[in-house]
Amino acid sequence: MSLQSIPSTHYVLAFYRFTDIPNPHQEVAAHKAFFKNRQITSRIYISENGINGQMSGTKEDAEEYMKWMHANPLYKDIPFKIHPYHENVFPRQTVKYRKQLVALDEEVDLSLAGEHASPELWKTLLESEDRPLLIDVRNDYEWQVGRFEGAECPPCETFREFRSYTDELKTRVDPKKTPVMMYCTGGIRCELYSALMKKEGFEQVYQLDGGVINYGLQQGSEHWLGRLFVFDDRMTVPIADEPTPVIGTCHFCEKANDSYYNCANMDCNTLFLCCPDCIVKYQGCCCETCKTSPKVRPYHLQNPHKPFRRAHHYNVA
Ligand SMILES: [Zn+2]
Ligand SMILES: [Zn+2]
Repeated sequence: MSLQSIPSTHYVLAFYRFTDIPNPHQEVAAHKAFFKNRQITSRIYISENGINGQMSGTKEDAEEYMKWMHANPLYKDIPFKIHPYHENVFPRQTVKYRKQLVALDEEVDLSLAGEHASPELWKTLLESEDRPLLIDVRNDYEWQVGRFEGAECPPCETFREFRSYTDELKTRVDPKKTPVMMYCTGGIRCELYSALMKKEGFEQVYQLDGGVINYGLQQGSEHWLGRLFVFDDRMTVPIADEPTPVIGTCHFCEKANDSYYNCANMDCNTLFLCCPDCIVKYQGCCCETCKTSPKVRPYHLQNPHKPFRRAHHYNVA
């Protein structure tokens, strides 16, 4: 049975907001109380500066959660990006206090953040004759399976890396005269990277409002290639119903492919793209050495995609 034919009974929600939260621990406790006795899985972080979250639950529970959030003045009008799905997608229910919503290696002045471009404006800008410089601020493994046509993907693991990129960029273009478009999965990373870009002297910086998820929901998949990497059991999703070209390639045979796996050697756990033939041949491992290592999980042909989490650290969502 293909995924499309399984009826959706659940919603996967993504949301964030920067706002002063005077008592984040109390908000965490309120969330836990609301989630109690509901089949909800989540990854939600709350700090003094706001909330960053993703959750999945039955459509009923998800609807009630959105209503409950909107009734709280702190989260009034917070936009939810909604994807239907047939089951929960996060490993457990996580709601936690965090000092920083996104791990940073320096202070960022969020008031500098770039101009939010609606998906509609974004599309117009992509189609404009002198299209601004297009920057993808996600990780390399996200970029490999999906991206906007013509985007650059600078190293964004740390702000320091990103700053070396802007330094190099400033030798190529005039920051005062070069408009920049910037995007990420759900929008939160751009709030920070766009502020950094402006601090570095770029005057016109657009950030895609609500990220690629929002673009897919509102504008479809035009100008997008491949799939969107997501930080949950789905691994990657199409951004809209219309088909897009496969841009990933198998790590072994280089055939077009966009299925991600975590290496079955638990000491390795590397994320890699692999075609159906090679994954069987290598028994879920990323190389010959891993295949013969002492800690190889049994390879399950039926359900090989669910990320193995114990040792894998995802950066941000
Ligand atoms: Zn292959
Ligand atoms: Zn490996």
